Amino acid sequence: MAFRIKPTATHINYYFTCKRKLWLFNKNINCEHDSDLVKVGKFYHKKYEKDSINIDNIKIDKLRNGKVFELKKKKTAPEAAKFQVLYYLYVLKNHGIITSGIIKYKENNRLQKVELTKDKQKELKEVIKKINLLCGKKKPPGLKRNRFCKRCSYFDFCFS
Ligand code: SF4
Repeated sequence: MAFRIKPTATHINYYFTCKRKLWLFNKNINCEHDSDLVKVGKFYHKKYEKDSINIDNIKIDKLRNGKVFELKKKKTAPEAAKFQVLYYLYVLKNHGIITSGIIKYKENNRLQKVELTKDKQKELKEVIKKINLLCGKKKPPGLKRNRFCKRCSYFDFCFS
């Protein structure tokens, strides 16, 4: 099935952290420059920029021993991180590259393996479908506070 929106890793991440944020981001309502957390994240990722790989609309931190390597500061949204890597694996697969992934959490140096199994690919396609449905809506999902609000760059936009 062809989708209108070809997600970026950010779409995937926001789908799992806040669907309202996903909708706002997709409409180019962007507050990221206001967030210190984002600045720290960008600074942190800059170190790895020279190893990053761009394919289609994704940017992979780096490949390590042929595997997708994704670095996360903390394990605050593990499902989002996992599906982000699954999405990378899916895009690579569409380019004829079959591999697996590793997420490294810097807070404790723990590694998590990620495999794009048939079931995971099915789940991922469902997520992409739902992202398209949500982003196609005229209005954003209603305001509902969640555990990511406190550090969200859209906080003022949503709550002031
Ligand atoms: S402030 Fe909260 S509700 Fe608003 S976009 Fe961010 S996470 Fe979502």
